[in-house]
This record gives sequence, C-alpha cells and structure tokens, in this order.
Amino acid sequence: MAEMKLLVIGAGGRMGRMLVKAVDAEPQTRLSGALERAGAPGLGQDPGTLAGVGAAGLAITDDLETALVGADGILDFTAPEATLAMARIAGERGLVHIIGTTGFTPDQFAALREVSRGARVVQSGNMSLGVNLLASLVRRAARSLGADWDIEVLEMHHRMKVDAPSGTALLLGEAAASGRGIDLGAHSVRSRDGQTGARPVGDIGFATLRGGTVIGDHSVIFAGEGERIELAHRAEDRGLFARGAIRAALWVRDQPPGYYTMSDVLGLAD
Ligand code: NAP
Repeated sequence: MAEMKLLVIGAGGRMGRMLVKAVDAEPQTRLSGALERAGAPGLGQDPGTLAGVGAAGLAITDDLETALVGADGILDFTAPEATLAMARIAGERGLVHIIGTTGFTPDQFAALREVSRGARVVQSGNMSLGVNLLASLVRRAARSLGADWDIEVLEMHHRMKVDAPSGTALLLGEAAASGRGIDLGAHSVRSRDGQTGARPVGDIGFATLRGGTVIGDHSVIFAGEGERIELAHRAEDRGLFARGAIRAALWVRDQPPGYYTMSDVLGLAD
C-alpha cells in the first residue's frame, strides 16, 4: 500500500508536535505539510526539527493551499473554529480528516458533521485504546446497574487546558448515558455550587480538576447503596493520542466516506 501523506495542522502545538513525531515514526505515513495560523511563532521552521525528530524538509506555513499540496489526510488537534474550517475543505475534497480537537458547542458539533459530508472522518475526544476500552466497559456497567446507582465522571488535566469538562469526560458520560438508554444533555450536571438540593436520581455528574502538567486522568464512579465501583484511566504520555490518530488515518483511508469514531477503528463498537 502506498505511503499515506499527512498534513498536521497546529503543528507547533503540544499535540501538533507529537503528531509530527508519530508520522515520522510510522513507516506507512509521511509528513506532506504543516500548518499554523498567521502570526504563530513556529512559522517558517521545519516541523520535524521543532518536534525533535530531525528535519522533515518542509516549513510550517500559514498558507492553506501550500499546506494541502499532496495531502491524503489531515491530522487536526487544534481549536473548534479551526477544525470547522478544515472540515469544510476535507468534505469538499474528499480527504481523510482525523479530529482530536475538543470543546465544540452542540451547534458547532452539528455544523461539523454537516460540512464534512464527503470526507472520511474519525472524530474522538480521546484517541487512546485504553480510554475507548474504558468507554465500552462504562457502557456495559451502566446497562447492568439500575438508576439507583449514581454515576459521576471525574477528570484532571494540566493547567493550560482551555475547555471543561474534557472531551474524554464527555465521551465517558455519553457511554454511560447510552448504556442507560438516556439522553446525556437532558440528564447531566456539569457543576455544583451552593445550595444544590439533593442529587436528582438518574443524573450523570461531572467534576473537573485542573493543575500542573497532568496529561489526562479520568474515572467513572458508580455509587450505589453501601458500595462503589470505580473505573479509571491515566494517560502517561501524550504520544499515545498521536499514535491513535495515525492508526485512525491508516484505517479510515480504506473506508467509504463517513463519520467514524475510535470505537469503529479499534473494533470496540457494540
Ligand atoms: P495547543 O498546544 O494549544 O495546540 C493547539 C494548536 O493549534 C496551537 O499550535 C494553535 O496555534 C493551533 N491552532 C489554533 N487555531 C489554528 C488555526 N486556525 N490554524 C492553524 N492552527 C491553529 O493545545 P493541545 O494541548 O495540543 O490540544 C489541542 C486540542 O487537542 C485540544 O482541543 C485538546 O483538548 C485536544 N486533545 C485531544 C486529544 C484526543 O485524544 N482526542 C488528546 C489531547 C488533546 P496558536 O498557539 O497560535 O493558537
């Protein structure tokens, strides 16, 4: 199979640099472009050098058409507005678009799905095997346990993270809601402060911690009468998300255009 040429957007960011590294490490992929927004500090630099893997022989650009030359797919861990703009292009040109960006509003999320028709998209708030397996276990546990078991999703991330709850916390909340057969939007509590009253039966609660350099800790707590089950995942290396993104790109290039999740990529959909 021909090597897959990939454009990394946000190439100077924390995940962008990890993606450049992961593309370099995978023999079936090659970096064909690196994009940053106008005015970004890394513009003009070699993305491979910036990522610490040696020169890739190209420069980070803010020109979209230059960045897209030869690309079969786009690796995108940036910000919701940037991802939406890129999704439209991927949809029009029938490209692979791997979306790791989190923090979409429900409206942005609906627009994303609409504009990316025609593209091969894998979108996930977490690209790791461990978290996607955890989501599958959470779905099963929620299906087995009655609504008298309170479900709480707890997450902690580094101090620079800009959205809350994390995309992974929401992915786990969605898994719990689907196991229980309820709509997460109508049955979730995102924050608690002051006189909240007693906990409504059946709600799924979220709690967010921020600090230091934590890459991503998540746990889902099922609290029943006199007993508690906790399912947890701790990310130790940001590279695992990048490797998951590469795996998604190589998998989805052979699929018909459509919108896929990491559960599809990893064969965990049930
Ligand atoms: P980051 O270090 O802030 O990186 C984001 C990068 O995207 C920055 O370089 C930023 O440039 C760039 N960018 C923003 N708008 C752009 C545009 N219009 N065109 C080109 N580049 C643009 O953040 P991060 O920690 O890498 O995280 C990025 C996203 O990935 C977040 O949403 C995070 O939650 C998500 N994430 C997902 C997973 C997963 O497995 N799904 C794992 C980790 C992180 P500026 O600095 O100039 O704004």
